[in-house]
Amino acid sequence: MQAKFIVVTGSLMSGLGKGILVSSIMKVLDMYDLKVLPIKFDGYLNFDCGTMNPYRHGEVFVLEDGGEVDMDFGTYERFLDRDLDRDSSITGGKIISSIIEKERRGDFLGEDVQVTPHLTGEVIKYIEDFAEKKKIDIVVIEVGGTVGDIENGYFIEAMRQLSLKRKVEFINLTYVPVISSVGEQKTKPSQIGIRLLMQAGIKPDILVSRTHEPLSEKTREKLAFFSSLDKSRIISDEDLNNIYRFPINLLKQGVDRILLDDLGIKGLKINRDKLRSWEEIADDTVGIEGESIRIGIVGKYIDLKDSYVSVREAVYHASHALGINTDIKWIEATNLRDEKQVSNELAGLDGVIIPGGFGARGIEGKIMAIKYARENKIPLLGLCLGMQLMAVEFARNVCKLKGANSTEFDPKTKYKIIDLMPAQVAVKNKGGTMRLGAWKARITVNDSIAYRAYKKKIISERHRHRYELNNRYRHLLEKAGLIVSATTLDGKLVEIMEWKNSYGIGTQAHPELKSRPSRPSPLFLSFINAASEVKKQSLNTSTKSE
Ligand code: GLN
Repeated sequence: MQAKFIVVTGSLMSGLGKGILVSSIMKVLDMYDLKVLPIKFDGYLNFDCGTMNPYRHGEVFVLEDGGEVDMDFGTYERFLDRDLDRDSSITGGKIISSIIEKERRGDFLGEDVQVTPHLTGEVIKYIEDFAEKKKIDIVVIEVGGTVGDIENGYFIEAMRQLSLKRKVEFINLTYVPVISSVGEQKTKPSQIGIRLLMQAGIKPDILVSRTHEPLSEKTREKLAFFSSLDKSRIISDEDLNNIYRFPINLLKQGVDRILLDDLGIKGLKINRDKLRSWEEIADDTVGIEGESIRIGIVGKYIDLKDSYVSVREAVYHASHALGINTDIKWIEATNLRDEKQVSNELAGLDGVIIPGGFGARGIEGKIMAIKYARENKIPLLGLCLGMQLMAVEFARNVCKLKGANSTEFDPKTKYKIIDLMPAQVAVKNKGGTMRLGAWKARITVNDSIAYRAYKKKIISERHRHRYELNNRYRHLLEKAGLIVSATTLDGKLVEIMEWKNSYGIGTQAHPELKSRPSRPSPLFLSFINAASEVKKQSLNTSTKSE
């Protein structure tokens, strides 16, 4: 079958959940055993996401091949349960630099190079080549930004041109607000959104409306009328407790049949096993009966929870698999200025996560949080920066190396516990030059949290960092009781560290990036389990003492 295309655009504003819609559409098609892959277009002129601030754009997601991509890729991978590669990501920066390279080479000799047909042609060629190279049935293309933006105008035009020669299904996501005093679903913003898309020469085949409550019949009729679509093509995308329910919601509204008919795909039946296992994942009643555990995430981009989506999802996957209900408390590290504030914020938690991060802001608060967790035997999970700070805290408070630090935060520190490796010292460019992507590690200690979690010696997780534990201090830290339980295969870099006296584990990797609802991360499973055990013990002791 020649590849077919689904193009998903968004109207009016960002943050409506286009990435979740695209992921859910892919999941639905995957349930029909179709081979489907995404392409995400982002209009910004950065080459990739690597140099962007998570505070503005949400988390930077890292792929197996080291591609630093938009956070939507995390959602794609979690829904599809499939590793993607950087070919799925197109940015304005990538496409423009490739056309300029061609122009310099002389590929367009004699011509003036224009947005259309050259830039649009470049986009179309990229997408067709992608479909061919990957041998897929359907490419689902997410157009970043909203219709009417300057940044994605040429890309949307390219999609229109693509539809002139290939089978393309257009899906538009809009927003239906409710004015609280009136309580009525308002369709005018959607009408304007659709009009803008039609001005660009595109008539959507399906309209998905983000709403608070399910779309009413009246709203559906109105939207159908204004977009000249059959009512069955107006899809409700109401608030859900659990995003993993959305594919099921799409199936209930018959989106599968519409897509297959429109794309001319005949004779396929849904794979019942895939449907059933997804229904289990989407079951949001799991764990709600038991006692909840409380996990604190101490970060510095806390105002924008999207900065830590993969961590949040990994907590959810592990909790769901263990049948445990977990509440997350977001703690802003910069608010932890002294021990009193730390104990106010952290007392009563069953586990603490120190996620990844860059730059000096909030570091001291995180170090104090680690000390508090260690001294009060609260299970701790350190992710990348979290592991580095576990080592710094241990050096300062157990080895008594006053002022120990990472040279990222204090280049002049006397005790460079975390430092740049020689390979990084020479690096000048910031983009794409960290230790990135999948790296294998060897677990060297059998009696360790790491081995009990992974149940094997050679593991692989994704990385994104420039600094490492400084081997000059490794022996000293180990002698004082910090366990190095995994290293790189050559033994040269520390990958995992653990506490001896209570549950505490830090990894130089980002295991959250590989956690999937169907395959939770082993380390998160181990951590959530430890937190729930600690909770049970404390409940037991408090009932005994009553
Ligand atoms: N800033 C640290 C480094 O570059 C940690 C990075 C991270 O947590 N991803 O090594």
